[in-house]
Amino acid sequence: MTVDQFVHALRAEQTPLEDAPGSLAAYETDFGRLVRGASRGVVRARSVDEMARIVRMARSLGVKLTPRGAGLSQGGQSVAAETITLDLSDLRSLDVSALRDARVSVGPGTTFREILAETIPHGLTLPVVPLNLDLTVGGVLSAGGMGSSTHRHGLVVDHVVSANVVLGTGEQVTFSRESEVEVRDVVLGGVGRAGILACITLALVPTPRALRSLVLLYRDLSTLLADQTRLALRAEVEHLDAMCAPAMLGLIRTPQGGRAPLRRFSYALHLTVGADAVVEPLLADLSHDEVLHDEADDPLSFASRFDARFAAMRATGAWELAHPWFEAFVPAARAREALERAMAMPPFLSELVRATPVASDARGARSRSVAMPEGPAFVVAMLPAGVPAAFVEQARGAIEALDAAYASLGAKRYLSGWLPRIHALGWAEHHGASLDALARVVERCDPDHVLASRLPPLPR
Ligand SMILES: Cc1cc2nc3c(=O)[nH]c(=O)nc-3n(C[C@H](O)[C@H](O)[C@H](O)COP(=O)(O)OP(=O)(O)OC[C@H]3O[C@@H](n4cnc5c(N)ncnc54)[C@H](O)[C@@H]3O)c2cc1C
Repeated sequence: MTVDQFVHALRAEQTPLEDAPGSLAAYETDFGRLVRGASRGVVRARSVDEMARIVRMARSLGVKLTPRGAGLSQGGQSVAAETITLDLSDLRSLDVSALRDARVSVGPGTTFREILAETIPHGLTLPVVPLNLDLTVGGVLSAGGMGSSTHRHGLVVDHVVSANVVLGTGEQVTFSRESEVEVRDVVLGGVGRAGILACITLALVPTPRALRSLVLLYRDLSTLLADQTRLALRAEVEHLDAMCAPAMLGLIRTPQGGRAPLRRFSYALHLTVGADAVVEPLLADLSHDEVLHDEADDPLSFASRFDARFAAMRATGAWELAHPWFEAFVPAARAREALERAMAMPPFLSELVRATPVASDARGARSRSVAMPEGPAFVVAMLPAGVPAAFVEQARGAIEALDAAYASLGAKRYLSGWLPRIHALGWAEHHGASLDALARVVERCDPDHVLASRLPPLPR
């Protein structure tokens, strides 16, 4: 009944709500396609004031809202749970009037592609850019945001100068690095459970006009990780990434009497510097087996290099399949073991495993909601193109086991992927000693639990 009243009140204010059954299906799952929920309708905020009105109205009528950007998370983060979906993807705006101060202000539905198209021609870029440029800024800031410059600049959340937020109370608050820090800590990396990012000012950094990228081949994983660690400290390294990929070399007998692929992994280190940097001294310090590739690029083309993979996923239908993606921050000392465990997953999951060191000096700025192991860390990510329905149950079991193994290594999950352990056990293990303080602030920001999704709530 309250939802009916809410719909009526919205319509009285000329705010349209879609509730035709056919239009809700897309909001009842996400890119992961493993978690399903039920949406009672979809409302699109067209301005920050309208967003605040919608939240106040929902609160007064006891209706719950699920904030959603592009719906590209994979564990129910933006999946409705008998809630109204608050679709923020139309709130796209880009204010470049402070470019001279190396800042840009955007609406939450703005994509990284839209930002870079404006800033790169001025020689400026976001310090950290995700591989998919079509993610919304609001959605990425709610997870944390990492990219191939994470070794140097940390996470996207580390570069939020200030943001205006609509809390679950319907109040608007502006936080910065110095003010309303508690709100900042529960909103950035907070998976939409305390407040909704409405207008965000992000810091920019200079970008070289041209880049040079090398792909170095390794046969030994420890050598690759040691070289990444060394390169992460070099000022001239703009981007640093590594991919572990298998070749299938045969089908061999298993102890159970069946057969399994015989696979051998190779490791590729991706190193990008400004075109003017001298790479020979860098290379002389490394222990790669071969330089596989060496190319010149411009910053916009480089930032969009994964478009080709995503286009292929769409063309083959893989985009529509399940994506039990798995990303974690792993203590650097356990990175080798963590990667080996990911590479031992069934072939349909472990076709592409990535590893990137995390800058340790960005930690002061990081939001407390982004759980991270103590000390140096790597991001490890396992990102299959798509898992066919026939393999989904096997994938679930395999990733539950991987999640438990990573927890025992002291790893912390990145809150974008499929999170079976958090779904099963809640947040205590993930947030550890920070949980009570985070939960207290979330309670203050959203005392009536207006913001909800298919992720389990924090304990109140
Ligand atoms: C192909 C692909 C490539 C990716 N590559 C990367 C990568 O390189 N680096 C990386 O870090 N991540 C990457 N991701 C993951 C992605 O960053 C996260 O899943 C992100 O949360 C998705 O953004 P979205 O706009 O789709 O958000 P949604 O899935 O719509 O929402 C995610 C969460 O954010 C909340 N939310 C959305 N908007 C707001 C807002 N304005 N205020 C408060 N909360 C909000 C939602 O409630 C939800 O909890 C990738 C995902 C895909 C599918």
